[in-house]
Amino acid sequence: MAILVTGGCGYIGSHTCIELLDAGYEIVVIDNYYNSKPEALRRVKELSGKEFPFYECDIRDAEGLRRVFSAHKIDAVIHFAGLKAVGESVQKPLTYYDNNVAGTVVLCQVMAEMGCKRIIFSSSATVYGTGNPSPLKEDMPTGAVTNPYGRTKFMIEGILSDLCVSDPEWSAVLLRYFNPIGAHESGRIGEDPNGIPNNLMPYISQVAIGKLPKLSIFGDDYDTPDGTGVRDYIHVVDLARGHVKAVGYALAHTGAEPINLGTGIGYSVLDLVNAFKAANGVDVPYTIAPRRSGDVATCYSDPAKAAALLGWKAEKNVEDMCRDTWRWQSQNPKGYDE
Ligand code: NAD
Ligand code: UDP
Repeated sequence: MAILVTGGCGYIGSHTCIELLDAGYEIVVIDNYYNSKPEALRRVKELSGKEFPFYECDIRDAEGLRRVFSAHKIDAVIHFAGLKAVGESVQKPLTYYDNNVAGTVVLCQVMAEMGCKRIIFSSSATVYGTGNPSPLKEDMPTGAVTNPYGRTKFMIEGILSDLCVSDPEWSAVLLRYFNPIGAHESGRIGEDPNGIPNNLMPYISQVAIGKLPKLSIFGDDYDTPDGTGVRDYIHVVDLARGHVKAVGYALAHTGAEPINLGTGIGYSVLDLVNAFKAANGVDVPYTIAPRRSGDVATCYSDPAKAAALLGWKAEKNVEDMCRDTWRWQSQNPKGYDE
């Protein structure tokens, strides 16, 4: 019995591989290295002390996938592979629909053909769009998304739900992540963004280490306690452990189930900057800039469904997230490029 991890070389995938191995699962990993480097999996092997098969394979390559499914008995797939840059998705929508949506269709076609009908999908809180008040619950309306990236997540949720209706043997766990940050506590694996980061935490840590001069805080006039945007930051190791629980759930249930993975707590941009400074004793210079288009003021989860169905709850706090991010950043100033 093995779990296939698509995109397993990436940020969330690499942390999840460690938690799966620690939990005793066998894994098979595929990635096309579009946004990752082989060094990440080398370190996963080093940290876990375990070996596992890896294939450099694109999820759009049906023949390549067939070879992987033929060589291993795959019981479930955790599907991380996808493109995730919101701004780039506005510039290159077809690339995003091809990679994320068409890629998932090819993956599911091969899964069905090979008799594996259990998938855990990396969805996002972005599917809740702009119209819902926080805390966000799984039964709220979805789809009022503000960019092509978000639309790919909404469309894939729909495709997997349709698949479950068409064939009662399918199981699809649609994990709606809130804002994953942090790194493995060893400091050996973490987020290694290409170029200038788009997301807040990698930006903060690159300012703290002196790679970037200062953080621009996008708006201080939101209707939030200090005027800056509020998000539900979740430690990537907690998120990874949520996937281990979701595998157990997918093996025991059928049907499509959207489930939030968040802490249920909202922190503002200034809260996170101050927590980072306090946890690590470093400075993070910032300036207030105009709002970023497409941003909502507040976004945090109701995590009750994950507790009820998966028996999972986030355990790490914001200090852990800041400390572990800094350990990774300061020990690997060039990411995986040494
Ligand atoms: P990541 O870019 O670090 O990992 C994705 C991996 O998928 C990369 O290693 C990349 O090389 C690989 N990949 C991309 N397209 C592929 C293809 N066609 N075939 C094979 N491999 C391919 O991103 P991440 O932060 O680890 O995110 C993992 C998943 O979670 C993505 O689907 C992302 O959209 C989703 N997600 C991420 C966040 C976040 O803030 N990081 C939030 C919500 C959802
Ligand atoms: N943010 C910011 N400066 C940055 C990046 C992000 O002020 O350089 C803010 C952003 O406006 C939002 C929060 O930080 O309020 C989280 O942004 P991120 O891009 O990390 O996540 P998302 O917007 O997808 O929730």
